[in-house]
Amino acid sequence: MKPQQTSERPHMKNVLGFQVPTDVYYLHQGHAWAALEETGLVRVGLDDFSQKIIGPADGLKLPGIGKTYYQDHICLSLFKEGRKASFEAPLDGVIEAVNPKVRQQPNLVHDDPYGEGWLCLVKPINLESNLDNLSSGEANATWINEEAHRLLNFTEGKAGVTLPDGGAVVDNLLGLYPDIGWRPLIREFFLKHLTTKVLAEGSTKDLWKDIYSNGNLQYCFNCSTCVSGCPASHGDPPLLVRNLARKVILGLEEELIEDNTPWACVSCSRCEEMCPMNVMPFEMILSIRQWQCRNDETLIPPAIVEIYKRGYTQAVGVNMELRESLGLSQLPTITNNQEQLEMFREMLMQTQIVSENDYMFKG
Ligand code: SF4
Ligand code: SF4
Repeated sequence: MKPQQTSERPHMKNVLGFQVPTDVYYLHQGHAWAALEETGLVRVGLDDFSQKIIGPADGLKLPGIGKTYYQDHICLSLFKEGRKASFEAPLDGVIEAVNPKVRQQPNLVHDDPYGEGWLCLVKPINLESNLDNLSSGEANATWINEEAHRLLNFTEGKAGVTLPDGGAVVDNLLGLYPDIGWRPLIREFFLKHLTTKVLAEGSTKDLWKDIYSNGNLQYCFNCSTCVSGCPASHGDPPLLVRNLARKVILGLEEELIEDNTPWACVSCSRCEEMCPMNVMPFEMILSIRQWQCRNDETLIPPAIVEIYKRGYTQAVGVNMELRESLGLSQLPTITNNQEQLEMFREMLMQTQIVSENDYMFKG
């Protein structure tokens, strides 16, 4: 395929309420777009279809400059009211720059998805073959028309969304009809690669080899001893080590990648001492975290927000109760010392992950 190339705004077509570029922009099946620049770089953004579904975002996690991403792999995320929508890279390449404006004004991605709301510039490394997997020209309009009807079928009966002839899908669909369900819609339309892989392969039974190759994991017999001694099992949501072990053994990849509970572990190692099968559950928790980061470059561990706000993730309430029963005074905590907490926050703000995503830590 001969790449189209221009710095002009594309010609747009209205397809059932969605703005669709019918030249210049290539569309990826996960609803990202790619446009070739005269410099040889490729500009990347998200299409109007995705933005009409999500509505204006509160924040976003852009790909890291200098990092290499591959087509179909998660490379960026939008955040809205504490929920996350991840998107796949439309091509292989190295991130050369990100749009500084959208960091300050994430709503630009929604308001002007093909213009001011662009996200990053990529130096392609496999352009010709990547473009073969993207749609372009009039095929963009045909595909979005199919997606619009698929969306109609998907939401029918849940939100009462109708699409009569000549009508249009409403803007901010998930905001107006939250009962459609954020996760199912995101998975169905934006995470094509992950969904297709799971559908094609069924549950990935050998996931444990990928995550945690301690053979003893197979001998876990669900006894729950690890849960009974775990201080984070009283958290919200509770960390249930036994359940995580089940997910790994059964290959429930999709559930595991969205599970935040491994980040609630306080590294006390009690489960390691108690497990009768020498599964070494704490090591498994660390391995799950690493696997999640490998598979989702945009992951911001939820525990970081808690640490920023409170100075810790899990209160070990059992110890407090024990001290009280013994008539001992409570030990001071960082939460009770505002001055230290502020110093701690300043220190965290100097780390890359917090400073680049400061919108998550305000308020
Ligand atoms: S190491 Fe983590 S998972 Fe294990 S008991 Fe302690 S908090 Fe729970
Ligand atoms: S204590 Fe060990 S064997 Fe029992 S459920 Fe936990 S990981 Fe499995």
